[in-house]
Amino acid sequence: MAQDDVFKKLVAHCKEYGYVFPSSEIYDGLSAVYDYGQYGVELKNNIKKYWWESMVLLHENIVGLDSAIFMHPTIWKASGHVDAFNDPLIDNKDSKKRYRADVLIEEQLAKIDDKITKEVEKAKERFGASFDEKKFRETNPRVVANQAKYDELNARFSKALNSSDLSELRQIIIDNEIVCPISGSRNWTEVRQFNLMFSTEMGSTLEGSNKIYLRPETAQGIFVNFLNVQKTGRMKIPFGIAQIGKAFRNEIVARQFIFRMREFEQMEMQYFVRPGTELEWFAVWKDARMKWHQALGFGEENYRFHDHTKLAHYANAATDIEYRFPFGFKEVEGIHSRTDYDLSQHQQYSGKKLQYFDPEKGESYIPYVIETSIGVDRMFLQVIAAAYGEENIKKDDGTSDIRVVLRLPSFLAPVKLAVMPLVKKDGLPEIAEKIVHDLKFDFNCQYDDKDSIGRRYRRQDAIGTPYCITIDHQTIDDQTVTIRYRDSMEQERVNISGLKDIIFEKVSIGTLLKKL
Ligand code: ATP
Repeated sequence: MAQDDVFKKLVAHCKEYGYVFPSSEIYDGLSAVYDYGQYGVELKNNIKKYWWESMVLLHENIVGLDSAIFMHPTIWKASGHVDAFNDPLIDNKDSKKRYRADVLIEEQLAKIDDKITKEVEKAKERFGASFDEKKFRETNPRVVANQAKYDELNARFSKALNSSDLSELRQIIIDNEIVCPISGSRNWTEVRQFNLMFSTEMGSTLEGSNKIYLRPETAQGIFVNFLNVQKTGRMKIPFGIAQIGKAFRNEIVARQFIFRMREFEQMEMQYFVRPGTELEWFAVWKDARMKWHQALGFGEENYRFHDHTKLAHYANAATDIEYRFPFGFKEVEGIHSRTDYDLSQHQQYSGKKLQYFDPEKGESYIPYVIETSIGVDRMFLQVIAAAYGEENIKKDDGTSDIRVVLRLPSFLAPVKLAVMPLVKKDGLPEIAEKIVHDLKFDFNCQYDDKDSIGRRYRRQDAIGTPYCITIDHQTIDDQTVTIRYRDSMEQERVNISGLKDIIFEKVSIGTLLKKL
């Protein structure tokens, strides 16, 4: 299936099965804003729980915070967002569509990179076990030529971005013959800077005086509370503060479903460390965060790091964790070494000391910060993209059928088990209801007695329910039921009294956290 089609199917599936709806749909929607439906909200909550517990439960020296969305406007001056939270935008004069100039160039780079990867994969298949990838990359003329092209473009791009040279960004687009995907033309406007922060007014609306911003990241709420938490929690460096919350960005281009939204949610953790140790901690968190992603079991080969060549002015190291989405490898999470930039800026702008007294060193200093920052919604899309599958299966009558299945990790699944009486009579529904009643305190259960058992299984597969329990006539005699596994479709007969233990082991967050 073409990757574009896969993506369309994901979007349709999310809508059809109550995961994600376009916001304000009956009014024709609101661009790049989405609502989460009955299953979506459960999945989202489970993702947040997995992140939160991996931070706050597993680390004695990481604590949580929930800071307000509205903050003093000077915070955004101090953080640099008022002056520099810009994206370079460019319009195509024919299609009248707006693009991020940097993204157009990044996509061009990705195209070249794709060509190289395809060449390598082909050779890998051809040569089998004897394949020497390093040598192939160094000697194959097509790969060498494309690599040179990539390096040259990347160097030029980084230089232009680093010096905020907007006319050079435009020139790169022209020189590389990048066309508008809609009109196919190269009729581009100049590149302009566009600030991504939403603003509103607080209190009376005297001109200019009461302007406040909707936060574009949750991190600043952590920085300005750094001393509150450190003092009241008697935290010793190194320590971390974790927060989950909404963020808002007036994204220029927002055409990729919940990948890029104007209102979204972030999970951020700032880790405060002794100056000079930050790169060691950067490496530790890089490793820890990759493990967190890979513990979900979606295949290590689908993740990679993308180290930044262009560093923000406050950072001395940065990397992205990328996942292989149907539309290519894309960032899911950023890990940044932000030095002491933010705390120093807030110290300067607020006039309040934001220092830590290190009892071991006997001196005060502004800590350095490692940040891990992941979007809940983007992670949600990653999980759905990884879990979605279509399979050809043989039916009992010999014909075949397509089964749509969401192979969600059990802990993340919105519904853990569906309990189904085989028929709606002979006392079977009562037994099913009693099982739901007994288990609902521990797991999200669903009672389902509509349609044939086969259709009910299909419905639960599409929602991603990992276990279906079926009650049949044998249950009346021996108190056993069948448990059907979503992924293998295998069935097993087990005793009702053992159900709780069997399922608990499989869906418990502890099982997942122990992998970290
Ligand atoms: P991008 O380059 O994709 O715009 P970014 O580098 O600006 O992202 P960060 O500021 O590092 O992103 O934000 C951290 C994380 O927040 C990202 O890795 C992503 O998961 C999420 N995120 C950022 N912007 C959005 C958005 N508009 N919609 C959904 N998630 C977002």
